[in-house]
Amino acid sequence: MTAALEPNVAHNYHPLPVTVSHGEGAWVTDVDGKRYLDMLSGYSALNFGHRHPELVKAAQDQLGRLTLTSRAFFNDQLGPFATALAELCGKDLVLPMNTGAEAVETGIKVARAWGYRVKGIPAEQAKIIVALGNFHGRTTTIVGFSDDPTAHDDFGPYAPGFVAVPFGDADALEAAIDENTAAVLIEPIQGEGGVVLPPDGYLRRVREVTKARNVLFIADEIQSGLGRVGETFACDREGVVPDVYLLGKALGGGILPVSAVVADEDVLGVIRPGEHGSTFGGNPLAAAVGLKVVELLKTGRFQERSRQLGDHLRAGLEKLEGVTAVRSAGLWAGIDIDPAAGTGREVAERLLARGVLAKDTHGQTLRMAPPLVIRATEIDWALEQLAFALKG
Ligand SMILES: *Cc1c(COP(=O)(O)O)cnc(C)c1O
Repeated sequence: MTAALEPNVAHNYHPLPVTVSHGEGAWVTDVDGKRYLDMLSGYSALNFGHRHPELVKAAQDQLGRLTLTSRAFFNDQLGPFATALAELCGKDLVLPMNTGAEAVETGIKVARAWGYRVKGIPAEQAKIIVALGNFHGRTTTIVGFSDDPTAHDDFGPYAPGFVAVPFGDADALEAAIDENTAAVLIEPIQGEGGVVLPPDGYLRRVREVTKARNVLFIADEIQSGLGRVGETFACDREGVVPDVYLLGKALGGGILPVSAVVADEDVLGVIRPGEHGSTFGGNPLAAAVGLKVVELLKTGRFQERSRQLGDHLRAGLEKLEGVTAVRSAGLWAGIDIDPAAGTGREVAERLLARGVLAKDTHGQTLRMAPPLVIRATEIDWALEQLAFALKG
């Protein structure tokens, strides 16, 4: 039935059967005029909600002036965006890209170049340590170090140079480091993995160990960052500053793809003109929207909402029957469904019928990540619908 709606679209997704035609704030409307509360937010690309007026205005103003120059020339938007984003991150430099996977690929290139040119790793020997259960995107290099068979299998041969250790185990990570290790690449909270939080103190230990062993700490904050967890970055939860931030998703304000690698001069400065680039990266439309995103985050309003409403959401989820575990940080929750109540997909379908959009991950887990503009009463309503959906 759903495939019939998009006969010419390749089957690389399995969408829930709803065709959305309009969105505003935390709500969307389908082609029949039925309204749904969006508890997925485009996998956190819509942290500010659908069509946030300030973001739409920034985009519209820029559409009326200039949209694309390529980086062959300067444009008047990229500089201010980079300055604001660097300040938000407490770093020197920003390398703009488009999608999250491109930011990850860029981070890998930066780490290797830093390994050879600064650390002195012998040619072709650089290693990057990653975590089991990771999700960093869909390019051939990235899926090569995924241990999710659906993401990984049949897409080889895979790029060498990656070593995977259990997520949350700082001893295993430390033991895997040798003289050829250029970087550790982790998500501070594993989103696609089911909102998996590491044990307290893990990120601090990763920071200490990487510093002591002259290894870069690259934090993939593409889903966890920009207000989602009640702080600007998930690393802030442990007061940790990585060497490299990878950002995407909400950086584009839910309007267009904007990603970035943010680091200090001694790291990102290793990339020289011509060695890396992107036709669309840093375009003036993306930069104008990205600058407004940073301005919204600088108010602290969204982080504060996520913190307070996140506690509210968590308290409600913990009271539900048919739930075996709740993992959450801010307005971001992974909810393990008791198999007796159905699969994650079945619960998502029942929620859809009740006017709530949410998505399952890894079979029994339901993920909730509403826009940070959602109201407490709307969360309560979604929790009521979930209580019904868990009853079948
Ligand atoms: C979504 C995601 C990516 C990939 O982003 P795309 O824009 O889909 O390429 C990378 N890392 C994490 C942690 C993500 O959640």
